[in-house]
Amino acid sequence: MTKLSEIVEGVVVGIYYTLKDSSGEVIDTNRKGGEPMFFLQGAGNVVKGLDLAVVGKKKNDFFELEIAPEDGYGVRSEEAIRKLPRSVFPEDAPLEAGQRFTAQDDQGRMVPGMIVEVVGDEVTVDHNHPLAGLTLFFEITITGIRDATEEERTHGHPHGPGGHHH
Ligand code: ZN
Repeated sequence: MTKLSEIVEGVVVGIYYTLKDSSGEVIDTNRKGGEPMFFLQGAGNVVKGLDLAVVGKKKNDFFELEIAPEDGYGVRSEEAIRKLPRSVFPEDAPLEAGQRFTAQDDQGRMVPGMIVEVVGDEVTVDHNHPLAGLTLFFEITITGIRDATEEERTHGHPHGPGGHHH
């Protein structure tokens, strides 16, 4: 496998990342003794702003990145907040505000959601991504770059350590 000196489109990239919100609070990080995270550049494995920003970077590069919601987890949509009758949920499901769940939409896709409130027989749910509407502040270290295999390109994600396991 070719050793690449710089990230080009469609390669597998390893990163350490810290994600903070605008107040500097850490939302997520894999620097605490974890393995680097690997993603296939351009395949949508990570948010768009990050996917595009790594192109041209080299191994061991460290950089900070500010990503607008549009290139992050999307803007919050009022349409993603819905009121549903209690009866659409399983009878034994304990419904509480803040609870996360996964539902199936009309096209059979799995959509994550969160219960906002339960009033009588009416359940308000929010299908926005929990990080929708947030400007993201990333601190990225590039830990590795390698060519993607044929199989990885077909699958749209990296395999092996730090990648996808089947
Ligand atoms: Zn795969």
